[in-house]
Amino acid sequence: MTRWLAIIPLVLLGCTSLNTRLPDTDVVAVQKEKITQEQAAFEEIDRLRARLDTVAHRVLSANADLCEKTAPDPGLKTQSLKSFPKELREGARRELGLGDKHLVVYVRPGSSADKAGLQKGDQIFGKDGVLSAPGKTLNWHLKEGVQIQKSRLGVKENINLEGDEACYYPALLRMSSAINAYANGKSIIVTAGMMNFVKSDDELAYIIGHELAHNTQSHIRKSVTNYVLSLGGTRYTRIFESEADYVGLYYMARAGFDPANVEDLWRRLALQSLRGIGRAKTHPAYPNRSVQIEATRAEIAAKTSAGEPLIPELKDE
Ligand SMILES: [Zn+2]
Repeated sequence: MTRWLAIIPLVLLGCTSLNTRLPDTDVVAVQKEKITQEQAAFEEIDRLRARLDTVAHRVLSANADLCEKTAPDPGLKTQSLKSFPKELREGARRELGLGDKHLVVYVRPGSSADKAGLQKGDQIFGKDGVLSAPGKTLNWHLKEGVQIQKSRLGVKENINLEGDEACYYPALLRMSSAINAYANGKSIIVTAGMMNFVKSDDELAYIIGHELAHNTQSHIRKSVTNYVLSLGGTRYTRIFESEADYVGLYYMARAGFDPANVEDLWRRLALQSLRGIGRAKTHPAYPNRSVQIEATRAEIAAKTSAGEPLIPELKDE
């Protein structure tokens, strides 16, 4: 028995051993390269987050009057180590100085947070002390006019933080290479894969408008999570997708983005999921979507030239 156990690993080793002799790798060089790659990853996260926030802010603030759920948006994002998947935490600690506490990791240029002098690494305090996960709490504090403080290198200081009223469905970046975007009733989530797939801010604004519409039209409560792009699974509802396309186009147009070529996005997405061209059980097939978008754009253009407000048409009561 013991002899057999000793032999098995040798046999396995024989199967997996290489034919060639690889050059020795230097452990220090590998560690150095790891740091280089992590630095690049965090630069990429910074770039994608800034772009997503800039476009989303325009869409979310331009449509505040059509959203039931709004809050002041001061223009900052905070994160703690726990915001990152385990494999990125060592880099997040080194590159962003993150630990258990939420620190500012992003400030939108020109925003209230920017004007208040907030910087990366600052900590934010509200009514009850540290805002451990400031998103929602901070927004409520701002709504109630609570005095906000910042702490930098241990020095606390009152700051004047406000924000323009925006639909309260924050746009979050998900570090995934999958080309996807979805709404969960509370937020809008866009993957890094989708951020790199869109060819213009107009296309990104359309994605955000579409997901915002899923949230504002309560599609999530009415069904389950809705995805822009079906890559398997059947958790999609055709009429909700059509409505999100329709209302989403209004949302982007109201934010001053150009809906002229958004069908091109669907055509390119169709190439990622060829089955969507021909048939779709629950999602509108891509050709239907493209044609409906064209009709919606004509409707919006007619209202614009007539000087009418850009409000999606409601069903007759
Ligand atoms: Zn959708």
